[in-house]
Amino acid sequence: MRVIADLHIHSRFAMACSDSITVQGMHDTCVEKGINLIATGDTTHPTWLKELKSSLEPAEPGLFKMKGSQSDVRFILGGEVSAVFNVNGQSKRIHQVILMPNFDSVDALNDILSKKSDLKADGRPQVWMSGAEIIEAALKADKRAFVFPAHIWTPFFGALGAKSGFSSLKEAYEDQVKNIYAVEMGLSSNSPMNWRISELRNCALLANSDMHSLPKIGREMNVFEIDKEALSYDTFIKAIKDNDRKTFKMVLKFFPEEGKYHFDGHRECIVSIDPSKYNIKLCPVCGKKLVIGVMHRVNDLADKPEGYVPKDAIPYFSTVPLREVIAYVLKKGDATAAVENQYKKLVSEVGTEFDILVNAPIEKIAASSTPEIVEAISNMREKKVNIVAGYAGVFGKVDLLNRERGQPISASWKQKML
Ligand SMILES: [Zn+2]
Ligand SMILES: [Zn+2]
Repeated sequence: MRVIADLHIHSRFAMACSDSITVQGMHDTCVEKGINLIATGDTTHPTWLKELKSSLEPAEPGLFKMKGSQSDVRFILGGEVSAVFNVNGQSKRIHQVILMPNFDSVDALNDILSKKSDLKADGRPQVWMSGAEIIEAALKADKRAFVFPAHIWTPFFGALGAKSGFSSLKEAYEDQVKNIYAVEMGLSSNSPMNWRISELRNCALLANSDMHSLPKIGREMNVFEIDKEALSYDTFIKAIKDNDRKTFKMVLKFFPEEGKYHFDGHRECIVSIDPSKYNIKLCPVCGKKLVIGVMHRVNDLADKPEGYVPKDAIPYFSTVPLREVIAYVLKKGDATAAVENQYKKLVSEVGTEFDILVNAPIEKIAASSTPEIVEAISNMREKKVNIVAGYAGVFGKVDLLNRERGQPISASWKQKML
């Protein structure tokens, strides 16, 4: 069976997350999107954990379903923690996602973490332990725990990001690197960028939404093919660990330029810098330090040339979430009624969001939408789009109908570029 998984999400108890995130809401969104395996998120948070225990019931071994639900949506227990620690007097903060096969193990881990953290303060708690200590703690709580570094390239909290200062997973996780079998690429990098790093060849490259509100579930996802009879927590984790095309079929990813840390830049000065053209560290307008983006960081750490494709690499598909496609075409905000109505029409008449983006016949989409939406989806599938790259916390834009040209930047920076 096809397993479409989003393994990194947040509950309404995590910082800056929507109040409307509930188990029922997550379930219903997964049905629309075509996701049949979703992480619960925030298993360290006492109130959310209590809600999970009362709303979920066991399904296949190690997996859960919403109580009373007849759908194929499964939940896997898992949340994100932020490791806060010092290395040679320098403060480090890196994020990792921890998956667990049962509630007892979640409780056991929370017991350990609660000695180094205020777990009820945030659904994504800060834990005063190193990344390596967190992996050790998870495996102590349950040897079947599965830990992967989250959004590894993002400047502030990614293990390989510019602010963390680690130049390898080995440096970030020391001897516990032996227990890392996967990393999350994050929205600002795509598979080809990660293929350039030899150290990551032993890791599955995961694509997850890291969502803060329901509509963002599945904005990135992983597609596996697993024998239906054999489906369980263990077979799913094995499919990730094996990192083999036979079971790990593909990832759906943002165009990396759309991520908010793709280029370097300084947000306040509207300065966006393509690191392949300018290698500078200070803002050319105000002189403050630039936020060094993901593309720059990958170029710094890569030991393979651009365009390198490893043998048996897992395929990737660049995508734009369907609500964003519709919002762009209609020139409306993605939370407006007009966008929502068109979205619901498509998912009720054509198929899941996954199908509409990836493989539904164009004629079928045409019958339930407009010629411009059809053109936008075709352009996306064929990568015939113009992209304005994100930088320093500003999301990039995928110009699906090629309406615009060029990067919006401040006049004074433009002048200096000439
Ligand atoms: Zn994170
Ligand atoms: Zn500046």
